Amino acid sequence: MNENCIFCKIANKEIESEIVYEDDEILAFKDLSAQAPIHFLFIPKKHIRSMNELSAEDFVLVARILGKVKDLAEEYGVSETGYRTVINCNKDAGQEVFHLHVHLLGGRAFTWPPG
Ligand code: 5GP
Ligand code: ZN
Repeated sequence: MNENCIFCKIANKEIESEIVYEDDEILAFKDLSAQAPIHFLFIPKKHIRSMNELSAEDFVLVARILGKVKDLAEEYGVSETGYRTVINCNKDAGQEVFHLHVHLLGGRAFTWPPG
């Protein structure tokens, strides 16, 4: 738990969120500023600042998160139409919240390359 981290507070239920999945290690909730009909954020409950701070012992957890992204994409009906997963890291990628999170975006078409 990082006292200054908004996603730690969400994981700790100190800040409300619309939770779509939860287990001991992972929380998924709706993005407050949805950029697509489906826009969920998947976080490890433990504080990891960004991709740069991932250690080998976190790899299983990250793989579990991706597995849940896949499951929820199916559950919310975007598996066949398609979806995008995004992990922003640091300034150039526009990371705003420094607690590792995976965006799941679906329900509309996206352009490539991203801006
Ligand atoms: P980043 O740019 O760091 O990858 O994305 C952070 C995301 O977190 C943004 O899409 C933003 O809308 C979302 N976000 C920021 N604060 C909150 C919050 O308090 N609650 C929820 N549900 N989403 C948030
Ligand atoms: Zn945190």
